[in-house]
Amino acid sequence: MNLNEYRGILVFAEQREGILENVGLELIGKGKELAKLLDEKVTAVLLGHNIENLAKELLAYGADEVVVVDAKELAIYDTEAYTQAFSAIIKDRKPEIALVGATTIGRDLGPRISSRIQTGLTADCTSLEIGDNRELLMTRPAFGGNLMATIICPDHRPQMSTVRPGVMQKEVRNELNQGIISHFPVQFDNSKMKVKVLEIVKEEKEKVDISEANILVSAGRGVGNKENFVKLEAFANEINGIMSASRALVDSGIIGHDRQVGQTGKTVRPNLYFALGISGAIQHLAGMEESEYIIAINKDKYAPIFGSADLGIVADLNKVTPHLIEEIKKLKACR
Ligand SMILES: Cc1cc2nc3c(=O)[nH]c(=O)nc-3n(C[C@H](O)[C@H](O)[C@H](O)COP(=O)(O)OP(=O)(O)OC[C@H]3O[C@@H](n4cnc5c(N)ncnc54)[C@H](O)[C@@H]3O)c2cc1C
Repeated sequence: MNLNEYRGILVFAEQREGILENVGLELIGKGKELAKLLDEKVTAVLLGHNIENLAKELLAYGADEVVVVDAKELAIYDTEAYTQAFSAIIKDRKPEIALVGATTIGRDLGPRISSRIQTGLTADCTSLEIGDNRELLMTRPAFGGNLMATIICPDHRPQMSTVRPGVMQKEVRNELNQGIISHFPVQFDNSKMKVKVLEIVKEEKEKVDISEANILVSAGRGVGNKENFVKLEAFANEINGIMSASRALVDSGIIGHDRQVGQTGKTVRPNLYFALGISGAIQHLAGMEESEYIIAINKDKYAPIFGSADLGIVADLNKVTPHLIEEIKKLKACR
């Protein structure tokens, strides 16, 4: 394999029912940053049926080019059809890097493509950087999240990675961005398509998406019990915040998994993150470290969470939060 033949960055712009997933836009943002260092361009890959209207949106978020495959075989996500389309684009375009969001679809599709085109894939990356020899440094938690491993793919191209939603930042949308929209014809091999979708049963939609929240009040094991938790909900309401939690609290059954922050939960980036009775295990930090401002309340002054907090309060949270609620109410009354 002549590695020098491979140039540019390809990003999978996942869409579902004609709506772009945020993670694709985030990867275009990250791709632009990497492309600048490599002096290359970012190409978004848009697969589906009757989805061409989304291409302009991808340019607005910074893609230099959008390659569209519009085919009835791609109307509903199908591993084989999507793999055939994406692999054909990779074979044609020979990108140096290919990025896919670690959504349920991306986690299914990424490994299939990497196997089909015989390259490596680093799953669930939390950081992507460019090394001295143009190689992609792909960092992800390893050994149960106890250390971060940086992985390279020295002998094969493209260097492939899946990245969790919410980790990278999208560029500010600019309708004036110019770029190319290309149509890529794919000859599907229908004999390889063994799956027929008979019915789609949708999971009940989450009422709240913590990864979109501006203020999160996150509770940990230190909260103690459901009664104390309910008091924290009152605190969250007072400041227009949304409740989230550490895995310990989710495991206790007090709050659902859709509110878990961390390596096996969601990655969040709110403007304000309260860590209440949370020790700050590496797996939790992995999901919230990028928050704009972090306030931690913990009765153990040596708790690791204080290493990431902008403001740390060493105290019993169940004693402090009622005072906070009182003070906030007073401030609101003064307005
Ligand atoms: C593969 C793997 C994946 C994982 N994924 C995740 C994940 O996605 N998210 C996640 O959160 N964890 C995850 N974990 C678990 C993680 O390692 C920790 O066990 C978990 O984060 C601990 O939650 P906690 O901080 O609430 O509890 P603890 O570690 O038990 O900490 C409780 C804290 O509360 C403080 N405290 C107690 N009482 C009070 C009080 N009255 N007032 C103030 N402070 C008090 C204590 O000092 C302590 O620091 C994962 C672990 C593994 C192995």
